[in-house]
Amino acid sequence: MIAVGELAQMGSMCAWEGCTVTFERDMPPDWNWLLAFWAPGSVLNIAEIGPGQWLCDCCLCGKHSRMLDSKFKRLKPAPEN
Ligand SMILES: [Zn+2]
Repeated sequence: MIAVGELAQMGSMCAWEGCTVTFERDMPPDWNWLLAFWAPGSVLNIAEIGPGQWLCDCCLCGKHSRMLDSKFKRLKPAPEN
């Protein structure tokens, strides 16, 4: 576990357990922000999400972005008419 104050001095660190890759200033192109929250329906403005509704607000390095993405279900393209 990393203390919040310690993390703030490192820049941004990948949130994947065991990964210590960090970046400072601009996010590298293969990294991604990961936001997860509860809402009763679709949200158009994330500023309206209450503080108690967030599951996570973090980033993943390129390797772990791809690992997470590989776990998502894939949708078939809609048939063309
Ligand atoms: Zn990582």
